[in-house]
Amino acid sequence: MASPKPKANLSPAYQGSMLMIVAPSGAGKSSLVNALLQEDTALKLSLSTTTRAPRPGEVDGKDYRFIKRAEFIAERDQGLFLEHAEVHGNFYGTSKAWIETQMKTGRDVVLEIDWQGAQQIRQIIPEVQWIFIFPPSFEALEERLRKRGQDDEATIERRLAAAHLELQHAHEADFIVINDDFERALIDLRQVVAASRLRSGPIMARNPALLKRLGV
Ligand code: 5GP
Repeated sequence: MASPKPKANLSPAYQGSMLMIVAPSGAGKSSLVNALLQEDTALKLSLSTTTRAPRPGEVDGKDYRFIKRAEFIAERDQGLFLEHAEVHGNFYGTSKAWIETQMKTGRDVVLEIDWQGAQQIRQIIPEVQWIFIFPPSFEALEERLRKRGQDDEATIERRLAAAHLELQHAHEADFIVINDDFERALIDLRQVVAASRLRSGPIMARNPALLKRLGV
């Protein structure tokens, strides 16, 4: 019997882990990711570019790289984004050069992106891990969106409608973390990161001498 075809691996030398965190607005994704990044300094968060206007308190170059629509289109047409998507009427994209540098230097990378971007990245980098964050209920999602007070009513309604669509893509993810209890969800997220670091690809790429000694 023929052995199964190995999964395509476009970057066999990549020593790190790449994690995409996807969730509907209001699922508590950013708070979880921020907590994770604070305690795990080996994780590097990708700074996305967007055409969305900054919310109060958001800083250019820290929360996002905020640019005009025409600039985004020009950069997109030059192929500067590894993935890009229109979300809630604005463009968002991930820098191709930044991701390539992180992969070359073996860094562990976190991408906070939507399902469209996650699908695109998975096509290019099959070893990526897709984590979906679930809110405990639709009501909780709505409550969080209203409580944070950053968006007007029309925006909240649009985000709730988009949440329905986003949730339909959860079955494409490798892992689902239910953000019912924040501490519990953070523990789950930590475990996913730990498991992703134990995948055979990165372990083998990091230990060539051991592989040689073991004759692997
Ligand atoms: P927000 O405007 O609330 O910060 O983000 C709206 C949505 O856009 C979220 O689902 C967020 O994950 C997604 N997003 C943020 N950055 C990117 C990106 O670089 N690419 C894609 N495809 N989605 C992004």
